Amino acid sequence: MEIHAVRGMHDLFGEEMDRWRTVESRLREIATSFSYQEIRTPVLEKMEVFSHTVGDETDIVEKQMYTVLNEGTEKLVLRPEGTAGFIRSVVEHQLQQTGHPQRFYYYLPMFRHERPQKGRLRQFHQFGAEIINDPSPEADAEIIAVLDQVYRSFGISEYEVRVNSVGCPECRPAYKELLKEYIRPNLDSLCGECQKRFERSPLRILDCKKPNCQGVVQSAPRMVNHLCVNCQGHHSTFLHALSAAHVKFTEDPNIVRGLDYYTRTAFEFTSDLLGAQSALGGGGRYDGISTRFGAKTFPGVGFALGMERLLIALEAKQAIQANPQSPVFYFAPLGEAAYHRLFPLSFALKRRGVPTLMAYEKDKGLKWLMKQADRLNAKYALLLGDDEIKHGKAILKDMKTSEQEMLDLHHLEESLMRKTT
Ligand code: AMP
Repeated sequence: MEIHAVRGMHDLFGEEMDRWRTVESRLREIATSFSYQEIRTPVLEKMEVFSHTVGDETDIVEKQMYTVLNEGTEKLVLRPEGTAGFIRSVVEHQLQQTGHPQRFYYYLPMFRHERPQKGRLRQFHQFGAEIINDPSPEADAEIIAVLDQVYRSFGISEYEVRVNSVGCPECRPAYKELLKEYIRPNLDSLCGECQKRFERSPLRILDCKKPNCQGVVQSAPRMVNHLCVNCQGHHSTFLHALSAAHVKFTEDPNIVRGLDYYTRTAFEFTSDLLGAQSALGGGGRYDGISTRFGAKTFPGVGFALGMERLLIALEAKQAIQANPQSPVFYFAPLGEAAYHRLFPLSFALKRRGVPTLMAYEKDKGLKWLMKQADRLNAKYALLLGDDEIKHGKAILKDMKTSEQEMLDLHHLEESLMRKTT
């Protein structure tokens, strides 16, 4: 019986894995240079973590969550996004109690039951960053600058940063009513989904990608023109800070983000390099989210980017090379005696941090051994046979130049170590 991986969930290996590792280490470097600390939360969370925060009526909660029954009764969910579990963890460990701004990043697999296609998977990976306890608009600008830095650092410039404000619980209700009044005469032209969204989540009609719905809201009133005084102040300082941080952006009144928990700043990064799934990443401010975990409010702002989509963009630009792991030394023993000499030495070198591989099969000839050294892209091959042992020598072959030199068998470890400096 053939058994395959679950649809929409991929194995990573070979050159692709090499590229991932390179990108992952760059992401960690960027997070560290912006002073963010890593946090890891469990893959499984209680259902309420998402239904109370992301929102009962969002696609994620309504249709896309993988649920697991714990002891037959309690519903657990495979994490579909990062922020809700992050806030659950902050509140549980009272990390917000210091009252000081704190910066975190995460790099975690996410699970959503969506129809798989290029750039859309059922298990995918997000790298995200969050700042808690800082209500300043400059924190919003910083978060966007971190995301911007990711693409910049890889030399990608073909993307747009779209920003908007979705207001706060003070000004949003009146705007929602205004928007509904505007849409109501054309309610019948909306897609089925948007008709359902009309009563409770009319803002989400603004970011529906269907042409009819886009037509209906094209000239709709804009949230940014109906913000309360505080949100207005926040938004204009945010826009200035973003310019001062040298991030190029456009204001887009239709960026509302799918999730319920956003307040004020909302943003998305999109790119034509991706094809149909153009969203590279996005995020926003979520000041009220903590009350949904029974905690006092504290401010928060963050982003999440999709790793798979970042890799698609990098491949489209050919901006990253696979960086295969090759051994420095490949030990090629010819005969029993050579094998017994080289086996312990290979471990001595590995323990000193020098990648060293050795052929364990004892019936292979020189030709086969050299082919292996070549295939593994080893820097040097070390050849040892009975003759060499008799003369107290070993042959070191530089695989690139094919030059050979004789090394003294009695000081072999130190001679090989000198080759690595
Ligand atoms: P979201 O939380 O839906 O805004 O997702 C943030 C980012 O994660 C998106 O901009 C995408 O880059 C990525 N993403 C979301 N859903 C998927 C998916 N099913 N497969 C791959 N990447 C995804």
